[in-house]
Formats: sequence, structure tokens, C-alpha cells
Amino acid sequence: MCLSDTAWAKKTQELGILAHIAQATKLSTMSSDQVDAANHGRIAALGQRVLGGGHLTREEALWLFDLESSADIFDLIAWANRIRERFKGKKIHLCSIVNAKAGACSENCSFCAQSAAYQTDSPRYGFVDPEPVLEAADEAQRNGVTAVGLVAAWKGLKEGSMLDEVCERIREVAQSGKTRADASLGIIKSQTIANRLKEAGLECYGHNLESSRRFFPQHCTTHTYEDRVETIGYLKKAGIKICSGGIIGMGETREDRCDLAFALKELGANVVPINILNPIKGTPFENNAPLPPLEILKTIACFRFVLPRQEIMIAGGRTVNLRDMQSMVFAAGASALMVGNYLTTLNQPVEKDLQMLKDLGLDPNWDKHGFSDQEECGCVQAEVAGAAC
Ligand code: SF4
Repeated sequence: MCLSDTAWAKKTQELGILAHIAQATKLSTMSSDQVDAANHGRIAALGQRVLGGGHLTREEALWLFDLESSADIFDLIAWANRIRERFKGKKIHLCSIVNAKAGACSENCSFCAQSAAYQTDSPRYGFVDPEPVLEAADEAQRNGVTAVGLVAAWKGLKEGSMLDEVCERIREVAQSGKTRADASLGIIKSQTIANRLKEAGLECYGHNLESSRRFFPQHCTTHTYEDRVETIGYLKKAGIKICSGGIIGMGETREDRCDLAFALKELGANVVPINILNPIKGTPFENNAPLPPLEILKTIACFRFVLPRQEIMIAGGRTVNLRDMQSMVFAAGASALMVGNYLTTLNQPVEKDLQMLKDLGLDPNWDKHGFSDQEECGCVQAEVAGAAC
């Protein structure tokens, strides 16, 4: 048994579910379902293919997203864990964010507390001075967090004095040498802006697709899915790494989630954050029913099958939606974690997350290997071109 299997077994034992595993089958946890031999064989064949450097078709991935029985889902999770181990080892990428400009956003994203279109309790303030940003970089360094992302609630970044100020904040973080300088500053409409960010020291830009192309208009009508894809194009051309993922639990179908995973693969995202909707009072999604934790874990596992080499990061909504099952995201294939508070909601303390990683035998010192595991064989580019490694 490899170490990760040991950690996995330890965690499930902590949750008091090992008895169920023995009772149900040798393959599943928390499951009284019988294992379907055909499904078991097909999941194993797909898992083996991904482990060997191969890729899933959309139809194959959709079949995984559609799995229903908990026995099958835990089977899938076990394979996702192997794939994470194979491509990411024990390294866990930790990121944090600082809200550099809060509230009063012109956009109408239905999940967002910061939209001016909705009455929420979210704070509102203008672009921050250097001090809070450098404090966030200090804190990140103390906790061994790889990156601090500067996040602004506005439609996008235009050329002018605000771009100068943003570049200055990025430069300060980059030159402090304390943490990687990342940012999430909305839509970009020119190559010049992307190049300026790169020159300032920006390494990675957060810009979620949020959902599938089909579902996007259901949660935002003030800008388009294409605006987001275009922004990512400018950033990539400038040589900036891409952090792009989405939010699950907005009312999208499993097919939408599958299409999002393939769109991110095609775009060559380096980091793929999966947020789980935390319904905010006052927003159109305030009454959305929460996703069952097992559905969330299955989605993470499916993303790992489709995106074997990417950092799959569990971001907003994990504490409120997964509660005591948070540590299982790594067994489901996650290799990165957003730590510290989110933009408008609280997270569990960083110390608790670090202890969780230690208990699982995982290593948060991600910066020892950078993005090299994605680039050594040109995988991200190869995947875009549809080639296998
Ligand atoms: S998600 Fe971003 S763009 Fe959309 S309303 Fe919130 S802050 Fe504005």
C-alpha cells in the first residue's frame, strides 16, 4: 500500500465509515450499493488509460459525471486519487486572495454578493493602498502559501491610471519575494493590458469561465462567455499562467459541468478552481438547494479524469458545503486549495487546513516544482491540439 492509500484509509477510518466498506464491498466506502461489475470494469479501464497518459472522450467523461450509485462513485474516487498521485504526487498548491476593490460591481452575476444589482451585506470600498496587500503577502509567507491573488470587483481593467496603480500593487508583491503575485481583475480587452501585467511581475491570472457556454447566460447577462475566453487568449499570449474554473451548484446540469471541464482543457488552464455555490442572501441564487457532498466529490473526481495534469483547486464554498468531508477532496483528485477567507465569506482557519494536509501526508510546499509538471512534455499545449503525451 502506498502512503496516499494509507492516508486515505486513515481518513476514512476517522470518519467511522470503514465498517461500511467491509460490509458493502471491497471497493466502496459509505455504500450499501452492490458494485456493478460492468461499471467497475469500465471505470478501471478509463482510469488506466488516463494513468497511462491517455485522454477521455466527452462521451466517456459524461458517463462518469452521470454515475449515480455511491459504490461506483467511490470506485471513481479511488481512481481519481491514483491519477492525482501519478501526475501531482503529494504536492498541494495553496493560494489565498485579497479583495483589492470590493462591492458595487456593474455586472449581474447571479451568485455574487458584490454585484451592485443585488442588496447584500457585502462591504464596498475602492482600490486598496499597498499596506493590506503587503500584509496579505506577509501572512501567505508565514503560512507557506504559494500565491496571493489581488481580486477586484469590477467588469474589467482598462488602460489608464487604474492600470498603473494595479501594476504598482503587483510589482510590490512580486518584488517582496514573499509569495507569487497573482491577480483576478476581470475582463481585458487588449493585448497591451495583458503585457503590462506581465511586465509588472504577474505570474498567474484568475478568470473563471464559471460554467458551460450553454449555461452562462443563466447567471450573467452583462458580459458573455466569449468575453472571458477572449481575455484568457490575451493573457496566454502575454505568457501569463491561467487560473480558470467555475462554480457548481448554480442549477447547471452534469453535462454543463462536463463541458466546462473540456473547455478548460482546450483553453489550457493551468489551475482549475472548483467553487461550490454558497447561496448569498439577496442574490438570485439565494434559495438554490445545496449539492449533496457525494455529488461534489464525484464532480472533482471527474475533473481529475479530464484534467490529469492541471492543478484542481477547491475554492469558495467548500467549508459550508462539505463540512467534515472537506479532507476527502484530495482523495477525489484535488491538488490545490484556496486558504484564508474568501472574498465575501469566511473559510476555516489556515492552521486547520495545514493540519488537515499534514494528517493526510500531503505536502503544501508546492513552489518547489512550479508549473514544471505541466510543461515538461508540453502537455497543456499538446492537449489543446488534441495530441496525447
Ligand atoms: S463575479 Fe466578478 S464580475 Fe461578476 S458581479 Fe461579482 S465581482 Fe462583478
